[in-house]
Amino acid sequence: MRNPFQSIRWRLQAWHGLFLLVVIAGFCYMAYQLAWNNQSRRIARNVFEAERHLFHPLFEAARPEGADEDAPVSSSMLLERLRAHQIELPPETLLRFESTESGFAYFVLYDTDGSVLMQSPNLPPDMAPLPNDGDDYDEDMRTIDNRREMARYNAKGVSSIVGRDITPEKDDLHRLGLSLAASGLGVWIVGLLGGWWLAGRALKPIHTISQTATRIAEGNLTERIDTAGNNELHQLARVLNDTFEQLHAAFERQRRFTADASHELRTPVTILLAETERILKRERKAAEYQEALTTCRESATRMRNLIQALLLLSRQESAPPQRESCDLAKVVGEAVAQLEPLAREREVHLQTDLPHLACQADPAALSILASNLVANGIQYNRPGGSVAVSLQQRNGSAVLTVQDDGPGIPQEDLPHIFDRFYRADKARTGTSGHTGLGLAIVKTIVENHQGTLAAESPDGAGARFVVSLPVEPTPQEPV
Ligand code: ADP
Repeated sequence: MRNPFQSIRWRLQAWHGLFLLVVIAGFCYMAYQLAWNNQSRRIARNVFEAERHLFHPLFEAARPEGADEDAPVSSSMLLERLRAHQIELPPETLLRFESTESGFAYFVLYDTDGSVLMQSPNLPPDMAPLPNDGDDYDEDMRTIDNRREMARYNAKGVSSIVGRDITPEKDDLHRLGLSLAASGLGVWIVGLLGGWWLAGRALKPIHTISQTATRIAEGNLTERIDTAGNNELHQLARVLNDTFEQLHAAFERQRRFTADASHELRTPVTILLAETERILKRERKAAEYQEALTTCRESATRMRNLIQALLLLSRQESAPPQRESCDLAKVVGEAVAQLEPLAREREVHLQTDLPHLACQADPAALSILASNLVANGIQYNRPGGSVAVSLQQRNGSAVLTVQDDGPGIPQEDLPHIFDRFYRADKARTGTSGHTGLGLAIVKTIVENHQGTLAAESPDGAGARFVVSLPVEPTPQEPV
């Protein structure tokens, strides 16, 4: 059984799903990262603001009493006063660092020995150590658990940590992450469904083509694929339809040929059987036996001619011509010479005009072609008539013309004379040698050589057959 996951639709869906997943995940990650960066910047601003709100009143409070308002306060002064516990923060500042509600700000001030000088009441218990890389001063903006803090180490002054709780921002980001994941998943599912539908729609014509082709393969040769439309699949459907058309025509030709061949063979076989049965019914005289055997021989000869012609036709149709350099004049001349006894018997005069003409062709096939045309010219002629055979080179083609001055071919028969088993003179059916295949063989040979063939018969002025074969350059006669 066919694995459904091997179908094009499933494969398309898998690739589409994977691609979509990567794009959506990338997009969500970027959105999350942007939001986190924004929050980080805002939190850092809050921390710096909290530092300002702490240090400004601290330095103000460290100013010695009576000193000028603009006089600078040094870090060591602040340290001394803090050590002496002489500094109190104003209540509005203390208020900022009191809350323990989410988002609260806290601080701690350290002495140079690491002891706590001052701390906010809400200071978390698990404070991380100050950054210290060996220099006198070091600072670090860091995130510890749910807290973001600015830690400043001062080897000779006040060290500080000012930070704030970032639980609300983390919750916000967590919610954003969840909603991004949910909406991303939603978009992915909608994308998958859309892709599945689109793939199905795009592949439907292929499904239709395959179903129609299966019905045709099952024997319904007249059926065709619907080609309404102009996309690539419709073009493919048209090509397939043309192929089916040719196949159908080939099957039809085959069927007709088999039927015609059987029909043609049935007559001589029937004669043979009837004659032998009649003669065997009782004892006969020698003359009667002789007469019956002559009839049988005629029927057998007819069958042999027919079988030979069928074999010849089938060989010409199945095998490509064995091309070789040959002189057309020689090939045609020899075929005409072989028919001279027949011409003498029929009292038909043969005329030839055969100049040397070299070409690449199958000499055996061309000999059969010339022989069939000239034999017809003799056989369908009247005593005293003539057949003219000529060769010419015209526009890169070798033109063979066989013209007789017999009674000619009726106009209504002209389009059919190249069909198999077609005989213009139905009365001749059965006469020895006339198989109705001669011109069909000529036509096949001409087509095999990519040539053209025409038959003309002006009223009462005999028949004229013109065969035109492309002359290919030969080693002896370069162009
Ligand atoms: P056949 O074996 O009957 O000669 P062909 O295929 O050679 O079969 O010819 C088909 C028919 O074409 C012939 O039966 C005949 O009626 C007609 N035909 C062919 N050549 C000539 C010709 N030169 N003159 C008159 N009729 C011809």
